[in-house]
Amino acid sequence: MKFGGTSVEDAQAIGRVAEIVRGRLRRRPVVVVSAMAKVTDQLLAMGRAAGGGDLPAALERSRALRERHLNTARELVGPESFSQLRPELEHDFDQQDELLRGIVAVGELTPRTTDYVVSFGEAISSKIVNAAFQTRGINSTLVDARQCVITDANYTQATPLFDETNPRILSKVNPLVEAGQVVVMGGFIASTSDGVPTTLGRGGSDFSAAIVGAALEAECIEIWTDVDGMLTTDPRVCPGARRIKVVSFDEAAEMAFFGAKVLHPATLLPAVQKNIPVYVLNSRNPKNKGTCVRKRPPGRRGSFTAIATKKNISIVSIVSPRMLLAHGYLHKVFEVFDRHRCPVDIVSTSEVSVSLTVDSGRDVEAIMADLRRFADASCEDKMAIVCLIGENIRGTPGVLAKVFTAVAEGGINVRMVSQGASEINISFVIEEDDVAEAVRRLHARFFESEPKQRRVKRATAWAQAVTAPVV
Ligand code: ADP
Ligand code: ASP
Ligand code: MG
Repeated sequence: MKFGGTSVEDAQAIGRVAEIVRGRLRRRPVVVVSAMAKVTDQLLAMGRAAGGGDLPAALERSRALRERHLNTARELVGPESFSQLRPELEHDFDQQDELLRGIVAVGELTPRTTDYVVSFGEAISSKIVNAAFQTRGINSTLVDARQCVITDANYTQATPLFDETNPRILSKVNPLVEAGQVVVMGGFIASTSDGVPTTLGRGGSDFSAAIVGAALEAECIEIWTDVDGMLTTDPRVCPGARRIKVVSFDEAAEMAFFGAKVLHPATLLPAVQKNIPVYVLNSRNPKNKGTCVRKRPPGRRGSFTAIATKKNISIVSIVSPRMLLAHGYLHKVFEVFDRHRCPVDIVSTSEVSVSLTVDSGRDVEAIMADLRRFADASCEDKMAIVCLIGENIRGTPGVLAKVFTAVAEGGINVRMVSQGASEINISFVIEEDDVAEAVRRLHARFFESEPKQRRVKRATAWAQAVTAPVV
Protein backbone atom coordinates (compact mmCIF):
# COMPACT_ATOMS: atom_id res chain seq x y z
CA MET A 1 0.00 0.00 0.00
CA LYS A 2 1.57 3.28 -1.10
CA PHE A 3 0.29 6.58 0.25
CA GLY A 4 1.22 9.72 -1.69
CA GLY A 5 2.03 13.20 -0.38
CA THR A 6 -1.55 14.42 -0.05
CA SER A 7 -2.51 11.20 1.75
CA VAL A 8 0.03 12.04 4.49
CA GLU A 9 -0.21 15.84 4.29
CA ASP A 10 -1.24 16.43 7.91
CA ALA A 11 -2.29 14.66 11.11
CA GLN A 12 -5.85 14.17 9.91
CA ALA A 13 -4.71 12.58 6.62
CA ILE A 14 -2.26 10.26 8.42
CA GLY A 15 -5.09 9.30 10.81
CA ARG A 16 -7.15 8.27 7.75
CA VAL A 17 -4.21 6.23 6.45
CA ALA A 18 -4.01 4.35 9.76
CA GLU A 19 -7.69 3.40 9.48
CA ILE A 20 -7.30 2.26 5.86
CA VAL A 21 -4.33 0.10 6.84
CA ARG A 22 -6.21 -1.29 9.86
CA GLY A 23 -8.91 -2.45 7.46
CA ARG A 24 -6.30 -4.49 5.54
CA LEU A 25 -4.44 -6.10 8.44
CA ARG A 26 -5.59 -9.62 7.61
CA ARG A 27 -4.01 -9.23 4.17
CA ARG A 28 -0.62 -8.46 5.73
CA PRO A 29 0.11 -5.02 4.29
CA VAL A 30 3.49 -3.39 3.69
CA VAL A 31 3.19 0.40 3.68
CA VAL A 32 5.26 2.77 1.53
CA VAL A 33 4.84 6.50 2.16
CA SER A 34 5.80 9.69 0.34
CA ALA A 35 7.06 12.84 1.97
CA MET A 36 4.24 15.06 3.29
CA ALA A 37 2.61 17.12 0.50
CA LYS A 38 4.91 19.74 -1.05
CA VAL A 39 7.85 18.79 1.19
CA THR A 40 10.05 17.53 -1.67
CA ASP A 41 9.58 20.85 -3.52
CA GLN A 42 10.41 22.74 -0.32
CA LEU A 43 13.52 20.62 0.30
CA LEU A 44 14.68 21.30 -3.25
CA ALA A 45 14.16 25.05 -2.77
CA MET A 46 16.06 24.83 0.53
CA GLY A 47 18.93 23.01 -1.18
CA ARG A 48 19.04 25.57 -3.98
CA ALA A 49 19.20 28.41 -1.44
CA ALA A 50 22.17 26.70 0.23
CA GLY A 51 23.79 25.99 -3.15
CA GLY A 52 23.45 29.70 -3.96
CA GLY A 53 25.25 30.57 -0.71
CA ASP A 54 22.17 31.91 1.15
CA LEU A 55 22.51 30.05 4.47
CA PRO A 56 19.93 32.13 6.42
CA ALA A 57 17.25 31.44 3.75
CA ALA A 58 18.10 27.75 3.69
CA LEU A 59 18.01 27.46 7.50
CA GLU A 60 14.74 29.36 7.65
CA ARG A 61 13.19 26.84 5.24
CA SER A 62 14.61 24.02 7.32
CA ARG A 63 13.13 25.57 10.48
CA ALA A 64 9.67 25.78 8.87
CA LEU A 65 9.87 22.11 7.85
CA ARG A 66 10.99 21.13 11.35
CA GLU A 67 8.03 22.97 12.85
CA ARG A 68 5.48 21.41 10.45
CA HIS A 69 6.74 17.86 11.04
CA LEU A 70 7.03 18.23 14.81
CA ASN A 71 3.53 19.75 15.07
CA THR A 72 2.07 16.94 12.96
CA ALA A 73 3.85 14.29 15.04
CA ARG A 74 2.73 15.89 18.33
CA GLU A 75 -0.89 16.03 17.19
CA LEU A 76 -0.80 12.42 16.01
CA VAL A 77 0.89 10.56 18.85
CA GLY A 78 0.03 12.54 21.99
CA PRO A 79 2.43 13.98 24.60
CA GLU A 80 3.80 10.72 26.02
CA SER A 81 4.88 9.08 22.76
CA PHE A 82 5.94 12.46 21.41
CA SER A 83 8.56 12.82 24.14
CA GLN A 84 10.19 9.64 22.77
CA LEU A 85 9.77 10.50 19.09
CA ARG A 86 10.83 14.13 19.31
CA PRO A 87 14.59 13.62 19.96
CA GLU A 88 14.79 11.32 16.93
CA LEU A 89 13.10 13.85 14.65
CA GLU A 90 15.13 16.75 16.08
CA HIS A 91 18.28 14.73 15.37
CA ASP A 92 17.26 14.35 11.69
CA PHE A 93 16.59 18.08 11.36
CA ASP A 94 19.93 18.88 13.07
CA GLN A 95 21.60 16.68 10.47
CA GLN A 96 19.69 18.51 7.74
CA ASP A 97 20.99 21.86 9.04
CA GLU A 98 24.54 20.46 9.15
CA LEU A 99 24.17 19.38 5.54
CA LEU A 100 23.03 22.88 4.55
CA ARG A 101 26.08 24.41 6.24
CA GLY A 102 28.23 21.93 4.33
CA ILE A 103 26.62 22.87 1.01
CA VAL A 104 27.18 26.58 1.68
CA ALA A 105 30.81 25.89 2.64
CA VAL A 106 31.44 23.96 -0.58
CA GLY A 107 29.48 26.54 -2.59
CA GLU A 108 27.80 24.01 -4.84
CA LEU A 109 24.71 21.76 -4.89
CA THR A 110 25.55 18.63 -6.86
CA PRO A 111 22.96 16.02 -7.96
CA ARG A 112 24.46 13.72 -5.31
CA THR A 113 23.91 16.28 -2.56
CA THR A 114 20.44 17.08 -3.93
CA ASP A 115 19.43 13.47 -3.34
CA TYR A 116 20.77 13.63 0.20
CA VAL A 117 18.75 16.81 0.81
CA VAL A 118 15.45 15.46 -0.53
CA SER A 119 15.87 12.08 1.19
CA PHE A 120 14.91 13.76 4.49
CA GLY A 121 11.30 14.10 3.28
CA GLU A 122 10.53 10.39 3.10
CA ALA A 123 12.95 9.40 5.88
CA ILE A 124 11.03 11.62 8.30
CA SER A 125 7.46 11.08 7.05
CA SER A 126 7.91 7.31 7.38
CA LYS A 127 9.02 7.71 11.01
CA ILE A 128 5.96 9.80 11.81
CA VAL A 129 3.55 7.43 10.06
CA ASN A 130 5.09 4.45 11.86
CA ALA A 131 4.74 6.19 15.25
CA ALA A 132 1.13 7.11 14.40
CA PHE A 133 0.34 3.47 13.60
CA GLN A 134 1.89 2.29 16.86
CA THR A 135 -0.07 4.74 19.02
CA ARG A 136 -3.23 3.51 17.28
CA GLY A 137 -2.47 -0.07 18.27
CA ILE A 138 -1.18 -1.23 14.86
CA ASN A 139 1.80 -3.54 15.27
CA SER A 140 4.15 -1.70 12.89
CA THR A 141 7.90 -1.47 12.32
CA LEU A 142 9.98 1.02 10.40
CA VAL A 143 12.37 -0.31 7.76
CA ASP A 144 14.86 2.10 6.18
CA ALA A 145 14.20 1.98 2.42
CA ARG A 146 17.78 3.10 1.79
CA GLN A 147 18.97 -0.23 3.13
CA CYS A 148 16.65 -2.20 0.89
CA VAL A 149 16.38 -0.44 -2.46
CA ILE A 150 19.81 -0.37 -4.10
CA THR A 151 20.39 1.69 -7.26
CA ASP A 152 23.08 2.88 -9.63
CA ALA A 153 24.68 6.27 -8.95
CA ASN A 154 22.57 8.20 -11.49
CA TYR A 155 21.58 10.73 -8.84
CA THR A 156 18.05 12.26 -8.94
CA GLN A 157 16.93 9.59 -11.42
CA ALA A 158 18.55 6.39 -10.21
CA THR A 159 17.78 2.94 -11.62
CA PRO A 160 17.24 0.06 -9.20
CA LEU A 161 19.67 -2.85 -9.26
CA PHE A 162 17.20 -5.66 -8.81
CA ASP A 163 19.81 -8.36 -8.17
CA GLU A 164 20.86 -6.52 -5.02
CA THR A 165 17.49 -5.02 -4.13
CA ASN A 166 15.27 -8.10 -4.23
CA PRO A 167 17.32 -10.24 -1.81
CA ARG A 168 17.58 -7.31 0.59
CA ILE A 169 13.82 -6.72 0.57
CA LEU A 170 13.22 -10.42 1.08
CA SER A 171 15.64 -10.67 3.97
CA LYS A 172 14.71 -7.41 5.74
CA VAL A 173 10.97 -7.14 5.10
CA ASN A 174 9.66 -10.67 4.70
CA PRO A 175 10.51 -11.97 8.20
CA LEU A 176 8.72 -8.98 9.74
CA VAL A 177 5.64 -9.57 7.58
CA GLU A 178 5.74 -13.26 8.51
CA ALA A 179 5.86 -12.23 12.17
CA GLY A 180 2.63 -10.26 11.70
CA GLN A 181 4.18 -6.79 11.64
CA VAL A 182 3.12 -3.94 9.34
CA VAL A 183 6.33 -2.73 7.73
CA VAL A 184 6.47 1.03 7.03
CA MET A 185 9.03 2.35 4.54
CA GLY A 186 9.74 5.65 2.82
CA GLY A 187 9.16 5.64 -0.92
CA PHE A 188 11.33 7.43 -3.52
CA ILE A 189 14.56 7.07 -1.52
CA ALA A 190 17.21 4.45 -2.06
CA SER A 191 20.99 4.21 -1.93
CA THR A 192 23.94 3.00 -3.93
CA SER A 193 25.69 -0.22 -2.91
CA ASP A 194 28.10 2.00 -0.95
CA GLY A 195 25.25 3.53 1.04
CA VAL A 196 25.14 6.95 -0.67
CA PRO A 197 21.51 8.22 -0.75
CA THR A 198 19.81 8.28 -4.17
CA THR A 199 16.26 8.90 -5.41
CA LEU A 200 14.12 7.27 -8.08
CA GLY A 201 13.00 10.47 -9.85
CA ARG A 202 10.07 12.76 -9.02
CA GLY A 203 6.94 10.86 -8.15
CA GLY A 204 9.13 7.82 -7.47
CA SER A 205 7.28 6.52 -4.41
CA ASP A 206 4.91 4.68 -6.75
CA PHE A 207 7.96 2.97 -8.24
CA SER A 208 9.18 2.02 -4.74
CA ALA A 209 5.83 0.39 -4.00
CA ALA A 210 6.04 -1.65 -7.19
CA ILE A 211 9.65 -2.66 -6.47
CA VAL A 212 8.75 -3.85 -2.97
CA GLY A 213 5.49 -5.47 -4.12
CA ALA A 214 7.21 -7.38 -6.90
CA ALA A 215 10.07 -8.53 -4.65
CA LEU A 216 7.57 -9.88 -2.12
CA GLU A 217 5.30 -11.29 -4.85
CA ALA A 218 2.42 -9.36 -3.32
CA GLU A 219 -1.19 -10.23 -4.03
CA CYS A 220 -1.64 -6.66 -5.30
CA ILE A 221 -0.10 -3.20 -5.21
CA GLU A 222 -2.29 -0.33 -4.06
CA ILE A 223 -1.45 3.28 -4.95
CA TRP A 224 -3.48 5.53 -2.62
CA THR A 225 -3.81 9.11 -3.82
CA ASP A 226 -6.20 12.09 -3.81
CA VAL A 227 -8.49 11.19 -6.74
CA ASP A 228 -10.85 8.26 -7.35
CA GLY A 229 -8.35 6.33 -9.50
CA MET A 230 -6.98 6.75 -12.98
CA LEU A 231 -9.30 9.13 -14.77
CA THR A 232 -10.06 9.56 -18.45
CA THR A 233 -7.94 12.72 -18.40
CA ASP A 234 -6.26 15.14 -15.99
CA PRO A 235 -9.11 16.40 -13.77
CA ARG A 236 -7.37 19.75 -13.36
CA VAL A 237 -7.65 20.34 -17.11
CA CYS A 238 -11.06 18.78 -17.61
CA PRO A 239 -13.35 18.61 -14.57
CA GLY A 240 -15.60 16.13 -16.40
CA ALA A 241 -12.87 13.44 -16.27
CA ARG A 242 -14.33 10.03 -15.38
CA ARG A 243 -12.94 7.13 -13.40
CA ILE A 244 -11.55 4.28 -15.49
CA LYS A 245 -12.62 1.07 -13.78
CA VAL A 246 -10.18 -1.31 -15.45
CA VAL A 247 -7.18 -0.55 -17.60
CA SER A 248 -4.51 -2.77 -19.13
CA PHE A 249 -0.85 -2.51 -18.07
CA ASP A 250 -0.04 -1.22 -21.57
CA GLU A 251 -2.67 1.50 -21.51
CA ALA A 252 -1.67 2.60 -18.00
CA ALA A 253 2.01 2.66 -18.99
CA GLU A 254 1.24 4.91 -21.98
CA MET A 255 -0.83 7.19 -19.73
CA ALA A 256 1.96 7.48 -17.17
CA PHE A 257 4.65 8.03 -19.78
CA PHE A 258 2.61 10.72 -21.51
CA GLY A 259 1.99 12.75 -18.41
CA ALA A 260 -0.80 11.24 -16.27
CA LYS A 261 0.89 12.17 -13.01
CA VAL A 262 -1.22 9.74 -11.04
CA LEU A 263 1.33 6.94 -11.73
CA HIS A 264 5.12 7.22 -12.02
CA PRO A 265 6.07 5.95 -15.52
CA ALA A 266 8.28 3.13 -14.24
CA THR A 267 5.78 1.88 -11.67
CA LEU A 268 4.30 -0.84 -13.75
CA LEU A 269 7.46 -2.60 -14.91
CA PRO A 270 8.03 -4.74 -11.79
CA ALA A 271 4.29 -5.38 -11.51
CA VAL A 272 4.05 -6.45 -15.15
CA GLN A 273 6.95 -8.86 -14.76
CA LYS A 274 5.25 -10.59 -11.86
CA ASN A 275 1.72 -10.07 -13.22
CA ILE A 276 0.61 -8.35 -10.01
CA PRO A 277 -2.52 -6.18 -10.35
CA VAL A 278 -2.14 -2.52 -9.36
CA TYR A 279 -5.05 -0.59 -7.87
CA VAL A 280 -5.22 3.21 -7.81
CA LEU A 281 -7.42 4.31 -4.88
CA ASN A 282 -8.53 7.49 -3.10
CA SER A 283 -7.47 7.85 0.54
CA ARG A 284 -10.13 10.56 0.98
CA ASN A 285 -12.83 8.28 -0.39
CA PRO A 286 -11.66 4.76 0.49
CA LYS A 287 -14.99 3.08 -0.29
CA ASN A 288 -14.64 3.93 -3.98
CA LYS A 289 -13.35 0.97 -6.00
CA GLY A 290 -10.72 3.02 -7.84
CA THR A 291 -8.96 1.72 -10.93
CA CYS A 292 -7.61 -1.77 -11.43
CA VAL A 293 -4.56 -2.00 -13.69
CA ARG A 294 -4.06 -5.54 -14.89
CA LYS A 295 -2.51 -7.63 -17.58
CA ARG A 296 -5.42 -8.55 -19.83
CA PRO A 297 -7.06 -5.66 -21.67
CA PRO A 298 -10.59 -5.21 -20.44
CA GLY A 299 -13.37 -5.61 -22.98
CA ARG A 300 -15.02 -2.23 -23.31
CA ARG A 301 -16.84 0.00 -25.72
CA GLY A 302 -15.58 3.39 -26.85
CA SER A 303 -12.62 4.28 -29.03
CA PHE A 304 -10.31 5.49 -26.26
CA THR A 305 -9.55 4.80 -22.64
CA ALA A 306 -7.82 8.07 -21.74
CA ILE A 307 -6.23 11.29 -22.92
CA ALA A 308 -2.84 12.27 -21.47
CA THR A 309 -0.75 15.36 -22.09
CA LYS A 310 2.88 16.20 -21.64
CA LYS A 311 3.83 19.86 -21.61
CA ASN A 312 7.23 21.53 -21.71
CA ILE A 313 8.20 19.84 -24.96
CA SER A 314 10.53 21.14 -27.68
CA ILE A 315 10.37 20.19 -31.35
CA VAL A 316 13.85 19.79 -32.85
CA SER A 317 13.87 19.91 -36.66
CA ILE A 318 16.89 18.77 -38.59
CA VAL A 319 17.15 19.55 -42.29
CA SER A 320 19.86 18.22 -44.54
CA PRO A 321 18.75 17.63 -48.15
CA ARG A 322 21.79 15.80 -49.41
CA MET A 323 22.48 13.66 -46.41
CA LEU A 324 19.21 12.41 -45.09
CA LEU A 325 18.87 9.19 -47.01
CA ALA A 326 22.54 8.44 -46.79
CA HIS A 327 23.44 5.33 -44.89
CA GLY A 328 24.20 6.07 -41.24
CA TYR A 329 22.69 9.55 -41.16
CA LEU A 330 19.90 8.85 -38.67
CA HIS A 331 22.40 7.01 -36.56
CA LYS A 332 24.49 10.18 -36.50
CA VAL A 333 21.48 12.25 -35.45
CA PHE A 334 20.44 9.90 -32.66
CA GLU A 335 24.01 9.48 -31.51
CA VAL A 336 23.94 13.18 -30.53
CA PHE A 337 20.84 12.67 -28.35
CA ASP A 338 22.34 9.54 -26.89
CA ARG A 339 25.57 11.32 -25.97
CA HIS A 340 23.56 13.92 -24.07
CA ARG A 341 21.49 11.17 -22.41
CA CYS A 342 18.41 12.87 -23.82
CA PRO A 343 15.35 10.68 -24.46
CA VAL A 344 13.38 11.34 -27.65
CA ASP A 345 9.59 10.89 -27.55
CA ILE A 346 8.12 11.33 -31.03
CA VAL A 347 9.95 11.13 -34.35
CA SER A 348 8.76 11.88 -37.86
CA THR A 349 10.85 11.84 -41.00
CA SER A 350 10.53 12.99 -44.58
CA GLU A 351 13.00 12.79 -47.40
CA VAL A 352 14.72 16.01 -46.41
CA SER A 353 14.10 16.42 -42.73
CA VAL A 354 13.65 14.77 -39.36
CA SER A 355 11.54 16.25 -36.58
CA LEU A 356 11.57 14.94 -33.07
CA THR A 357 10.43 15.95 -29.63
CA VAL A 358 12.39 16.14 -26.39
CA ASP A 359 11.64 17.48 -22.92
CA SER A 360 12.57 21.18 -22.92
CA GLY A 361 15.52 22.11 -20.79
CA ARG A 362 17.29 18.82 -21.36
CA ASP A 363 20.57 20.31 -22.46
CA VAL A 364 18.81 21.38 -25.67
CA GLU A 365 21.28 24.20 -26.45
CA ALA A 366 24.26 21.83 -26.34
CA ILE A 367 22.39 19.28 -28.45
CA MET A 368 21.60 21.95 -31.06
CA ALA A 369 25.24 22.97 -31.22
CA ASP A 370 26.29 19.37 -31.88
CA LEU A 371 23.60 18.87 -34.55
CA ARG A 372 24.61 22.06 -36.34
CA ARG A 373 28.04 20.55 -36.97
CA PHE A 374 26.49 18.49 -39.76
CA ALA A 375 22.94 19.81 -40.42
CA ASP A 376 20.60 22.79 -40.23
CA ALA A 377 18.84 22.37 -36.92
CA SER A 378 16.16 24.50 -35.31
CA CYS A 379 14.24 24.24 -32.08
CA GLU A 380 10.77 25.40 -31.01
CA ASP A 381 9.79 25.47 -27.34
CA LYS A 382 6.45 25.65 -25.52
CA MET A 383 5.03 22.63 -27.29
CA ALA A 384 2.98 19.79 -25.84
CA ILE A 385 2.20 16.19 -26.71
CA VAL A 386 -1.42 15.09 -26.61
CA CYS A 387 -1.80 11.35 -26.45
CA LEU A 388 -4.98 9.34 -26.94
CA ILE A 389 -4.74 5.85 -25.52
CA GLY A 390 -6.90 2.78 -25.95
CA GLU A 391 -6.79 -0.90 -26.79
CA ASN A 392 -9.71 -0.29 -29.18
CA ILE A 393 -7.74 2.02 -31.49
CA ARG A 394 -6.56 -0.94 -33.49
CA GLY A 395 -9.25 -1.80 -35.96
CA THR A 396 -11.39 1.31 -35.46
CA PRO A 397 -11.70 2.83 -38.93
CA GLY A 398 -11.97 6.59 -39.26
CA VAL A 399 -10.71 7.31 -35.78
CA LEU A 400 -7.97 9.70 -36.90
CA ALA A 401 -10.45 11.75 -38.90
CA LYS A 402 -12.65 12.16 -35.81
CA VAL A 403 -9.67 13.17 -33.65
CA PHE A 404 -8.37 15.80 -36.03
CA THR A 405 -11.83 17.16 -36.83
CA ALA A 406 -12.40 17.75 -33.12
CA VAL A 407 -9.03 19.51 -32.81
CA ALA A 408 -9.41 21.54 -36.02
CA GLU A 409 -12.85 22.77 -34.90
CA GLY A 410 -11.03 24.49 -32.06
CA GLY A 411 -8.77 26.27 -34.56
CA ILE A 412 -5.80 24.32 -33.22
CA ASN A 413 -2.82 23.65 -35.44
CA VAL A 414 -1.31 20.15 -35.25
CA ARG A 415 2.49 20.19 -35.70
CA MET A 416 3.48 16.53 -35.62
CA VAL A 417 1.58 13.25 -35.61
CA SER A 418 2.54 9.75 -34.58
CA GLN A 419 0.48 6.61 -34.81
CA GLY A 420 1.43 3.01 -35.16
CA ALA A 421 4.53 2.70 -33.01
CA SER A 422 2.28 1.33 -30.36
CA GLU A 423 -1.08 0.04 -31.52
CA ILE A 424 -2.81 1.60 -28.57
CA ASN A 425 -1.66 5.20 -28.88
CA ILE A 426 -2.21 8.19 -31.17
CA SER A 427 0.02 11.14 -30.29
CA PHE A 428 0.27 14.59 -31.77
CA VAL A 429 2.09 17.79 -30.96
CA ILE A 430 0.43 21.21 -30.55
CA GLU A 431 1.36 24.48 -28.89
CA GLU A 432 1.27 24.36 -25.11
CA ASP A 433 -1.32 27.14 -24.92
CA ASP A 434 -3.78 25.03 -26.92
CA VAL A 435 -3.66 21.98 -24.65
CA ALA A 436 -6.63 22.73 -22.39
CA GLU A 437 -8.89 23.51 -25.36
CA ALA A 438 -7.77 20.41 -27.28
CA VAL A 439 -8.29 18.11 -24.29
CA ARG A 440 -11.71 19.51 -23.51
CA ARG A 441 -12.81 19.10 -27.13
CA LEU A 442 -11.47 15.55 -27.38
CA HIS A 443 -12.94 14.60 -24.03
CA ALA A 444 -16.34 15.96 -25.01
CA ARG A 445 -16.14 14.15 -28.37
CA PHE A 446 -14.98 10.72 -27.16
CA PHE A 447 -15.98 10.41 -23.50
CA GLU A 448 -19.04 12.55 -23.04
CA SER A 449 -20.92 11.67 -26.23
CA GLU A 450 -20.03 7.97 -26.52
CA PRO A 451 -21.76 5.45 -24.24
CA LYS A 452 -20.16 5.16 -20.79
CA GLN A 453 -17.30 2.68 -20.73
CA ARG A 454 -18.53 -0.68 -19.62
CA ARG A 455 -16.51 -3.63 -18.60
CA VAL A 456 -17.47 -6.87 -20.29
CA LYS A 457 -18.00 -9.48 -17.61
CA ARG A 458 -15.62 -12.38 -17.77
CA ALA A 459 -16.15 -15.66 -16.07
CA THR A 460 -12.55 -16.14 -15.01
CA ALA A 461 -11.44 -14.10 -12.05
CA TRP A 462 -8.03 -12.47 -12.39
CA ALA A 463 -7.59 -11.88 -8.69
CA GLN A 464 -4.77 -13.88 -7.22
CA ALA A 465 -4.69 -16.00 -4.11
CA VAL A 466 -4.98 -14.01 -0.89
CA THR A 467 -1.97 -15.67 0.62
CA ALA A 468 0.65 -13.14 -0.45
CA PRO A 469 1.04 -9.78 1.33
CA VAL A 470 -0.50 -6.64 -0.13
CA VAL A 471 1.88 -3.73 -0.71
P1 ADP B 1 0.42 11.49 -4.98
O1 ADP B 1 0.96 12.60 -4.14
O2 ADP B 1 -0.65 10.69 -4.29
O3 ADP B 1 1.49 10.64 -5.59
P2 ADP B 1 0.14 12.89 -7.49
O4 ADP B 1 -0.09 14.35 -7.34
O5 ADP B 1 1.50 12.42 -7.86
O6 ADP B 1 -0.39 12.18 -6.17
O7 ADP B 1 -0.88 12.28 -8.56
C1 ADP B 1 -2.28 12.47 -8.40
C2 ADP B 1 -2.75 13.65 -9.24
O8 ADP B 1 -2.52 13.33 -10.62
C3 ADP B 1 -4.22 13.92 -9.17
O9 ADP B 1 -4.52 14.79 -8.09
C4 ADP B 1 -4.53 14.55 -10.53
O10 ADP B 1 -4.62 15.95 -10.42
C5 ADP B 1 -3.32 14.20 -11.39
N1 ADP B 1 -3.68 13.53 -12.64
C6 ADP B 1 -3.20 13.86 -13.88
N2 ADP B 1 -3.71 13.06 -14.81
C7 ADP B 1 -4.53 12.18 -14.19
C8 ADP B 1 -5.36 11.10 -14.61
N3 ADP B 1 -5.45 10.75 -15.91
N4 ADP B 1 -6.03 10.43 -13.67
C9 ADP B 1 -5.96 10.75 -12.39
N5 ADP B 1 -5.21 11.76 -11.91
C10 ADP B 1 -4.50 12.48 -12.79
N1 ASP C 1 8.18 12.93 -2.61
C1 ASP C 1 8.62 12.60 -3.95
C2 ASP C 1 8.15 13.65 -4.93
O1 ASP C 1 7.44 14.57 -4.56
C3 ASP C 1 8.23 11.23 -4.39
C4 ASP C 1 6.75 10.95 -4.44
O2 ASP C 1 5.97 11.66 -3.81
O3 ASP C 1 6.37 9.99 -5.11
O4 ASP C 1 8.51 13.58 -6.08
MG1 MG D 1 2.74 10.78 -7.31
